[in-house]
Amino acid sequence: MLRTHTCGELNIKNIGETIKLSGWIQKSRDLGGMTFIDIRDRYGITQLVFNMETNSGLCGKARKLGREFVISVSGKVKERSNKNKKIPTGEIEIIVEKFDILNKSKIPPFTIEDETDGGEELRMKYRYLDLRRNPVRKNLELRHKMALEVRKYLDSQKFIEIETPVLIKSTPEGARDFVVPSRMNPGQFYALPQSPQTFKQLLMIGGYDRYYQIVKCFRDEDLRADRQPEFTQIDCEMAFVEQNDVLNTFEKMIKHLFKVVKNIELDDFIRISYNTAMKFYGSDKPDIRFDMKFVELNDVTQGKGFKVFDDAELVVGINASECADYSRKQLDKLTDFVRKPQVGANGLIYVKYNLDGTFKSSVDKFFNEGDLKKWAEKFDAKPGDLLLILAGEKEKTQKALCELRLEMGNKLDLRDTNKFCPLWITDFPLLEWNEESKRYHAMHHPFTSPKKEDIDMLSTDPGNVRANAYDIVINGIEIGGGSIRIHDRELQKEMFTALGFTEEEAQAQFGFLMNAFEYGAPPHGGIAFGFDRLVALFGGSDSIRDYIAFPKNNAGRDVMIDSPSTISAEQLKELKLKITE
Ligand code: ASP
Repeated sequence: MLRTHTCGELNIKNIGETIKLSGWIQKSRDLGGMTFIDIRDRYGITQLVFNMETNSGLCGKARKLGREFVISVSGKVKERSNKNKKIPTGEIEIIVEKFDILNKSKIPPFTIEDETDGGEELRMKYRYLDLRRNPVRKNLELRHKMALEVRKYLDSQKFIEIETPVLIKSTPEGARDFVVPSRMNPGQFYALPQSPQTFKQLLMIGGYDRYYQIVKCFRDEDLRADRQPEFTQIDCEMAFVEQNDVLNTFEKMIKHLFKVVKNIELDDFIRISYNTAMKFYGSDKPDIRFDMKFVELNDVTQGKGFKVFDDAELVVGINASECADYSRKQLDKLTDFVRKPQVGANGLIYVKYNLDGTFKSSVDKFFNEGDLKKWAEKFDAKPGDLLLILAGEKEKTQKALCELRLEMGNKLDLRDTNKFCPLWITDFPLLEWNEESKRYHAMHHPFTSPKKEDIDMLSTDPGNVRANAYDIVINGIEIGGGSIRIHDRELQKEMFTALGFTEEEAQAQFGFLMNAFEYGAPPHGGIAFGFDRLVALFGGSDSIRDYIAFPKNNAGRDVMIDSPSTISAEQLKELKLKITE
């Protein structure tokens, strides 16, 4: 072995021992008579000492070592006179007797420190150097720990991890597929899985009643901070279960993770329907770290001659508690905020409930004190509160008010990153109308079962059918979602009809699954968690990239290996592919 210990473990108990360490040079200080070098590995940093007086040859050689050289040193552990209480090895140093250079290093293009001078692009190009930095290492260690705890928990619940294929078949549902040409089947393509959905259902039919897999999935979508073209899911499925069984099992998994990874005991997760979430938060992923629920005001605002309200499908507001002292300028800023195209409201109406009990609003012309008092009662407002109201078409207004609510949450410091508020959203609509394709799309995926009591509406009123589908949301981030599945051929056929498939199309795309349903498919359901997102949430960051060893950039490129790239004419020929542009 090139080491007896790691660079993070020697301490006062090792004084006098002769040891051997290997690692990278973090930094070197030459004080004339003495040279100090910090040697680093994954576990920590240890101070090495070279003395010009007692060993000038060795010290001279040490002075020539550069940053990031890899060395192996032998020496004695000695108590430090100048102790560093901040690191575990800070009470000792190594009097080096001998060292070997295992490899030299060029000067790194950025500093390998917690706070580096390297920009994102440069760090990604030299990711192997970036990986040496503590913050990146800690993130990957967190990821490892969470994967391990997921496996431990699921194993304890009798789930088994089974791998499913990566070269599968392209289907028209869902996001865009990444495809792989097949050399042996010219003109034909595999697709990379967007999720192992159909395979995990087939595993249920195969009798493996509790399956999971920590698995790479691929979606060719436009990228954002929390999206990567390849990402990892904790993918799970259970047979002989109903919705509550799935929710209970995975609520326990999330609680387990919080307990063992963050030492946080979470209360039982609240469960609300999609409709309730939209009504009170205008979002199917509400951040419930703070209250500020929506209050609908149609009944007390309409019919008084204010056209904006009278013409509106929905008049709805929030109570920004203790904000009645907002200045004209602050209110104008909020109005600008709601008018941004991403938010989409036309304007903002405010009511100040002054501390002296009077009201001041932006619609004083139309509404008197008595009217405004009625509104305030609806909000349960106290003197000192500020009511912020939007009006317009229902969904658009809910969405805009959701943005305003989050903005106020930020302004009022109500979104504490150390607080975690999970909830389940249930009873999603089964289908959503798509204006572009002029047909219904599955809100979750086509294998999700409708609620029993709504099945009859599938052919008559498809838009109002509710699904046995659920999402888990923490602090406004969707971290997982799933459903109870259809396990009956006829119902699956009906679902494909509702989605606009002809019988032949359904059979050609998903015949394998529908055929399997005819051989004793058990009732089943499951869930998948976005693992990268979950780790980022635990780590307190918005960017999943920080938790992936080799992530892709916003353009979907790996700048280190320079991919994607062209392939040779020979490869193209072998694949019988032609580039036309
Ligand atoms: N396969 C689904 C997804 O990737 C999750 C599930 O229904 O289990 O969103």
